[in-house]
Amino acid sequence: MMSHNARYGKSGGWVHWMTMIAMLIVLAPGCARDAGDQAQEEILDDPRATELDRQMIARTYELARAASEQGNPPFAAVLVKADSILAEAVNTGISSGDVTRHAELSLVSDASRQFGRGELSKCTLYTSTEPCVMCSGAIRWAGIPRVVYGAPQNLGGRFQEIPCREVLGKISPETEVIGPVMSKEGEQLRSGFHRKRG
Ligand SMILES: [Zn+2]
Repeated sequence: MMSHNARYGKSGGWVHWMTMIAMLIVLAPGCARDAGDQAQEEILDDPRATELDRQMIARTYELARAASEQGNPPFAAVLVKADSILAEAVNTGISSGDVTRHAELSLVSDASRQFGRGELSKCTLYTSTEPCVMCSGAIRWAGIPRVVYGAPQNLGGRFQEIPCREVLGKISPETEVIGPVMSKEGEQLRSGFHRKRG
């Protein structure tokens, strides 16, 4: 006659195998997903971006490239009302020796003097790279309701900033943020710059 313990042991083995199989079923898709994430580092563009958004991001890349050719960091921003460009700026952090001369901050600073808050409240700010914390603050103070960025801030984990959606979400939740847009081109621009700087 089978002992109680033996019966329990047999049933315990069966339970053990079933647990192993269940764990495989639960964990396998997660492992596959992680492997997929590592293999595919490409970031998908924001599907809400319009054709005008893409055109304006292309313009910021053009300006960023020109800034880089002048020895400055490859960042640029454009202020647009309806479909007209009101102002443009590039990062002049190196040529001016002023580390706060980010493209978005310079753009907001110049445009608020030139156009005033009423005009800025009808504009979209386009920027070649996701705005940093400082520039997100400036965008909030200017009351610009829409931001579209090209490349994300975080380039291969090298720059761990607070995402602008997080900053603006807290200090200006009504601001619409679209991005990344045409991020591959934007990332290439930036990685060329970071490679040069070492
Ligand atoms: Zn900035």
